Amino acid sequence: LPARYQGQQESVWEEYIQLAADYDPLDLGQGFPDFSPPEYIISALDQVIKDKDILLHQYTRGCGHPRLISILSKLYSHLIGRSIDPEKEILVSTGAYGALYSTMMGHIDQGDEVIIIEPFFDCYEPMVLTAGGIPRFVPLRYNNNNSSILKSSDWTLDPEELEKAFNSKTKAIIINTPNNPLGKVFTENELQMIANLCKKWNVICISDEVYEWLVYEPQKHIRIASLPGMWERTITVGSAGKTFSITGWKIGWAYGPANLIHNLHIVHQNSIYTCSTPLQEAIAIGFEKEFSCLGQDNCYFTSLPRQLEQKKNYMADFLTKMGMKPIIPDGGYFMIADWSSLESEIDLSAENDKYKDYCFTKWLTKNVGIQGIPPSAFYSESHKPLGEKLVRFCFIKEDEKLKKAAEILENWK
Ligand code: PMP
Ligand code: GLN
Repeated sequence: LPARYQGQQESVWEEYIQLAADYDPLDLGQGFPDFSPPEYIISALDQVIKDKDILLHQYTRGCGHPRLISILSKLYSHLIGRSIDPEKEILVSTGAYGALYSTMMGHIDQGDEVIIIEPFFDCYEPMVLTAGGIPRFVPLRYNNNNSSILKSSDWTLDPEELEKAFNSKTKAIIINTPNNPLGKVFTENELQMIANLCKKWNVICISDEVYEWLVYEPQKHIRIASLPGMWERTITVGSAGKTFSITGWKIGWAYGPANLIHNLHIVHQNSIYTCSTPLQEAIAIGFEKEFSCLGQDNCYFTSLPRQLEQKKNYMADFLTKMGMKPIIPDGGYFMIADWSSLESEIDLSAENDKYKDYCFTKWLTKNVGIQGIPPSAFYSESHKPLGEKLVRFCFIKEDEKLKKAAEILENWK
């Protein structure tokens, strides 16, 4: 294994997907819907496959299929409030992973420091390291608001701690709003504080917004690229998987100013080169439909979060009833819960993992039959204890499945 991958052998996904295959638990682990995507996106793909235009089965433009970059540019020009050049300011890649990878490889050089806010989607750290960068971690801190209800918004940045992380070697900061795993949606004030530091230190902001359409009332998703002076220095990442509930299609994108996106194009043309044509065509059709009804009730981007709101409340209820303390998310489709009050009822020594949340989740899979993800996977080594008494559950599941999960947990207790 080349030195640049040393120390990166472990992946919580590889481990937990195998665990689910071995024990067949009710799976609330890896994040994906267990129900059908919107009908129109399936029929769009069906149409594309049968289309008389046989070229739809062949290679398309490398950095993004023309029909897809065209509608992405229309949509985001509208949302950001400026005109986005489809050819120079967008990259389409293999999922948000591909877009993140091209971003990191295209901008981070040996010795560059990159600030990562914790908890973070786990691939950021290995990508920064592979690019030769040095991650600097800044955890969100929990502020006890003396309320019995824990909320993702109780986790905030300590302004001084964040400021101290910036210096002349800082190349970029990675933010993720809505955040996976916490479900925190960054407020305008928080984003403004980050933006001011980016401008002060001439830093690029990498904004992972794959859950941009999954935000619960009254919160609003704010795109940091739309704040004054931020377009010039922001690369925003999105995912068709999260947007249309089609995680298996693995199409994602990045958009930003031409000079920054240029570097992503170079990485992409020298690695992936081009993504699936029919999938991009079908996703373009999906976006065209959504764009025509944006903000209206019949729009999937409006109805999906409403549907998820119920599921979120249902999960919070059953976790509370069985003695866990859920943290109510403002966005995304995960719920973190504190399981520490159950510790005395569990034989953690049955597993020999270093961190308790790994022992707990494995024990739960094997003995109770419910799978969650250990949140310490979303922290750097020295901050992993911050995730140890927590577990992450995914709630974008059929009501029946969630009901079954509630029953299993109730019967266990
Ligand atoms: N970023 C975050 C925060 C995610 O949760 C995910 C989900 N896998 C990704 C990026 C990657 O998205 P994709 O499946 O489109 O590669
Ligand atoms: N984003 C999803 C999750 O956090 C999927 C992760 C993955 O595919 N590696 O569960």
